[in-house]
Amino acid sequence: MRNSRNKKILPAIGTICMLFLLLSACKNSSAVTVNTETEITAAEVRQYTDAGIAMGTVISETIYSDGEDVTEEVLNKLTELENNILSWRVESSEISLLNAEAGTGKKVLLSGETDTYIKQALQLAQDSSGAFDPTIGKITRLWDIDGENPRVPEAEEIGSLLVEMGYEKIEYSEEGVLLPENVSIDLGAIGKGIGCDVIRNYLSEKTEISGAVISVGGSIVTYGSKPDGEPWQVAITDPRDDTGEYFAVLTLAGENYISTSGDYEKYIEQVGQRYHHILDPETGYPADSGLISVTIVCDSGINSDGLSTACFVLGLNDSLTLLEKYGAEAVFVDTEKNVYVTDGLKDKLSIIEDEYVVAE
Ligand code: ADP
Ligand code: MG
Repeated sequence: MRNSRNKKILPAIGTICMLFLLLSACKNSSAVTVNTETEITAAEVRQYTDAGIAMGTVISETIYSDGEDVTEEVLNKLTELENNILSWRVESSEISLLNAEAGTGKKVLLSGETDTYIKQALQLAQDSSGAFDPTIGKITRLWDIDGENPRVPEAEEIGSLLVEMGYEKIEYSEEGVLLPENVSIDLGAIGKGIGCDVIRNYLSEKTEISGAVISVGGSIVTYGSKPDGEPWQVAITDPRDDTGEYFAVLTLAGENYISTSGDYEKYIEQVGQRYHHILDPETGYPADSGLISVTIVCDSGINSDGLSTACFVLGLNDSLTLLEKYGAEAVFVDTEKNVYVTDGLKDKLSIIEDEYVVAE
């Protein structure tokens, strides 16, 4: 039985799924917003809530401020990030311009911001022994799980792309990034987390903002505090409930970055077999580590997002040293609905769906 009291106070991830149904028709328009402005008890602090689309996903925002509404600007920041830096669809983005030079022998000097993202992505690739690999894009597009023509490719097709990929093939130095022929960079698995970092930097420039919780698809940033002093509550989607309900809630104070990766987000089914969007770079097939959902909590968005993908691929046991290295905490769910929680989250996680049982 779900606890209906808890349900009401937890709009975060569960709501995202519902909003997504409403707004998915507008997926490619940059900003569709539904604004509300509510005055709340603490003197002069207002609560601004907004839901919109940016980076191809639903953005939901709650901002506490004694100044003006900046929810629209937050959406614009994300759209800028996508168009100027991350998107491989936008030809003039820095990642597209870099990918276009693959095989030319030219080192591409990137903006400081983009350079940092690539450096961090390569570090994560190395630390996760390639479970997170930013060169996987071509295999993702071969499967096209979230695209127009998803399909299970032939083993030979996967094999021929597998030999070409590999983060070790990227030459990174102070003078720029050199991509060999056929190697491309795809920061899709960390884009939403980077979005959370960009938002956080934007919010911190505005002294009138005292707190915010913003979700960018499967990644969330909590910032500052609520006017009533209560901690943030972040719901984790039930990986086996199609209606987007949640199975657990994290109670977190202050600034946190939370990302979830799961096999339920984007998938196709063929002859009873589920093929989802998180690929194992070793095989080129959907990761099959015994997990169905991984949620990471840590101190940066890029890392929470990247680690959720990496840990989903690595599986429970192989994730633990990686998490330690990044000072990150996690909630894992396996195929039997056993829940594994790292020590730092044990007293912050409440299970609200009885089928899920915390394993000791
Ligand atoms: P997630 O739920 O893992 O955050 P997203 O929808 O945010 O999923 O990310 C999808 C992106 O992840 C795609 O761009 C895809 O190319 C990329 N991706 C899939 N598997 C991996 C992997 N093992 N390493 C790095 N990127 C990956
Ligand atoms: Mg991700």
